[in-house]
Amino acid sequence: MNAFSLRLFGFLTILAGAVHAAPVIVDEGGAHAEIVVAEKPTRSAKLAARELQAVVGKITGQKLPIVTAPTGGAVVKIYVGESEHAQRVGVTSEGLERDAFRLVSGADWLALVGNDWDFTPIEPWGRSNSDWVKIKEAEWRKLAGHPWVNPTSASLYKDYSKPLDIWKHDHRGSLNAVYAFLRDLGVRWYMPGPLGEILPDLKRIELPAVNRTARPEFEVRTLSRPMLNAPSIDDALWYLRIGANDQYGVLHHGQRYVTEHPEQRARHPEYYAMLPNGKRDTESETANACLSSPGFFQEMVAYCRLMFDHYDMPIVSVMPHDGFTHCQCQDCKGQATLDRDPSGHSSDYVWGFVVRVANELAKTHPDRKVFCGAYSSYRMPPLSIDKLPDNVWVQITNGRPIREMDDKTHEDTAALRREWQAKTNHPLSVTLNYTPFTDRGEFRPQYWPHIIARGLRDCAGTVWREDVWLSNGKGGLHFPGMSHLNPYVMSRLWWDTKQDVDALLDEYYALFYGPAAADMQAFIEHCEKNYSKLGSDGDLTREALALFDKAKAAAPSESVFAQRMALVDEFLVTLRNRAAQIRADRPEGLPGFRVIDMGKDKWRDVRDTLVIDGRIDEPFWTAYSLRGVLKDVRTGAKPRLPTEFRVRWWNGALYLAIRCQGQPGVAPIIGGSQDGDPAIWNGEHLELLIETDKHSYYQIVINPAGHLISMDRGTDKAHWSKWSAKAEVAAHRGDDFWSVEMKLPVTASDEDPLHQIIGSMPFKSRADVLESGKGTSLPWYFNLFRKRAGSEDEETSAFSPLGPDAKTFHDPLKFGEIYVQ
Ligand SMILES: [Zn+2]
Repeated sequence: MNAFSLRLFGFLTILAGAVHAAPVIVDEGGAHAEIVVAEKPTRSAKLAARELQAVVGKITGQKLPIVTAPTGGAVVKIYVGESEHAQRVGVTSEGLERDAFRLVSGADWLALVGNDWDFTPIEPWGRSNSDWVKIKEAEWRKLAGHPWVNPTSASLYKDYSKPLDIWKHDHRGSLNAVYAFLRDLGVRWYMPGPLGEILPDLKRIELPAVNRTARPEFEVRTLSRPMLNAPSIDDALWYLRIGANDQYGVLHHGQRYVTEHPEQRARHPEYYAMLPNGKRDTESETANACLSSPGFFQEMVAYCRLMFDHYDMPIVSVMPHDGFTHCQCQDCKGQATLDRDPSGHSSDYVWGFVVRVANELAKTHPDRKVFCGAYSSYRMPPLSIDKLPDNVWVQITNGRPIREMDDKTHEDTAALRREWQAKTNHPLSVTLNYTPFTDRGEFRPQYWPHIIARGLRDCAGTVWREDVWLSNGKGGLHFPGMSHLNPYVMSRLWWDTKQDVDALLDEYYALFYGPAAADMQAFIEHCEKNYSKLGSDGDLTREALALFDKAKAAAPSESVFAQRMALVDEFLVTLRNRAAQIRADRPEGLPGFRVIDMGKDKWRDVRDTLVIDGRIDEPFWTAYSLRGVLKDVRTGAKPRLPTEFRVRWWNGALYLAIRCQGQPGVAPIIGGSQDGDPAIWNGEHLELLIETDKHSYYQIVINPAGHLISMDRGTDKAHWSKWSAKAEVAAHRGDDFWSVEMKLPVTASDEDPLHQIIGSMPFKSRADVLESGKGTSLPWYFNLFRKRAGSEDEETSAFSPLGPDAKTFHDPLKFGEIYVQ
């Protein structure tokens, strides 16, 4: 047909009225199509049919019937999922990998068919927490025969949506096909719930001419939130609509399931890491294992075999527990490679263990996989292992940049991925800690679409699984009005990394913010570019807020656009407070303290003399005499009992030595006799409050017996104690004094916000930073207090006195400066 006759044909059909150029699915006259599913459809196909019916209904006001065989009454058949009817027109899921799908149409039919698979949970598993605790856990204990914690079955019910009848682990190609078709019609799901939806107003849907196959570029696309069993079904639907999924099997910190149970701790202290004080750590929440322990090795292997055999898991993690501690026993201690970067100190030790377990498992389960994360002090590849066994799969925590725009971070991360790729024949997995899952008071708007797009493009083809951790808001997204954009962008790029992220964003701004599109774009781009300085740089913070306020003014107050922006506004409360706070600059005349950098060549001979025993007598401390003194907390006068301290920086850690003068023959009052005991405050103690360039602020309390409390005061109160400094502390008592030595490890990476101080090496000024060539760090701020609580002449002294009216130690604006020089 040439152009003229085509036009003529159109003309004639209009005249004829009843005949159409393309068959119509829906028009103002009603629904002319029916949805055809199999007699026994997969869960994915069943839900897909319901979703197609519901969304087309919302767009057009017409209802497509769902049938299990064509009735002959409809013009168009829409085959959803595999069925004999779809097969008859030649469309099946053959050759499609997990979650992939086809959109194919014929003269009077459309097939939306994908790779589906229904997950079957294996007993024993808990239908609820109480079902597990009261009934199923006993079955599990019998099955395990050891005091092991079950890795998934206790909470498996969270991976299922009852109203939608769908499991996280189901393969959902047909459901993805339906969503792709709806997206083709112009539907968008930017944020959970009706406010997050874009629904085109269509009176007429024609049968499209289509024949395409879609495959995700990343096989596994996991988001920690929203959860499928979230209280709001909108959250669960959004998770499905953006095409996320999950991998069945244990992929995190697998060792914890063998070490966490109290009975295991009581029975086998030899399984646990020896601390520098010579004791086995059977007490801390995340107590780590002694990886040289033969008994622990045997149990780890037996545990994996049970997961493979009974629970049919394809992959099991043997990764150490969080808050990693390198065991200090005779066998383990020497396996540390302390001459490497701290992120490689334990690489050979940990990965050596992984290889031993993997080789043992390969004898019985050659088809199954062993998994471990490159994380913490074993993030760098091991030196002594050229190639990992074929059944070992590697994950890298923050294996693509989270929030950094600079080329260097992207290149360094790509280099790390390449180093790991060289050790394995398999693609990598990456875990991404987007704002900590602990809901720690993050107040900076998180918009990283370009960073995500760049990272995903770089990872394409070499990463099979992305595991994204997002903050929790009651099972859904935390502040969804702000936090939806990152997972939305990820979800689109997981399916196609080659698409133009700016085109995707232009569409988002226009559809989601309407008349405020340009202003919201400016706000979001400003936040992405200046994230690290928001909240600390006054000008940039105020500019962000001004851009947002301008956007707000651009949309009519009752409009849907204004409602969406109101949700962003709710999140900005803390940033607004913070902007007001920075306006009040730190007062003049606060003290500063210089830290000695033991990495400098001139300290080569003394830096190895350090012994953390509480005595401050080794050249590490004495070779340089600079020390700070504490003053009366209110008056600034010399206290009755003086206190002096020294600080060093060496190899990614801050070292403190503090000497507290007492009276001859009088022992200091000891309030608490174990770490974390609040009674520590009832006796004499030191308090170190420290704000880094990356976090404000940490609180570390030490008593004369060397017991410690560590808290993260940058979070809400319920989470203060979740943080551990991972400090090494020793106290010493003399006749008329007591002293402590302390090592505080520092990490520049915020991959694990619950352990260690997060910050970059502190420098005094930007000029120093440039001169040193060591990055772009800023000074830190701190205060150090000594409170002789419980004594008759109670006295409090501080490095930076607070003045006569001080009511609390917790006044960060009075912290003194601390910097390395
Ligand atoms: Zn050991």
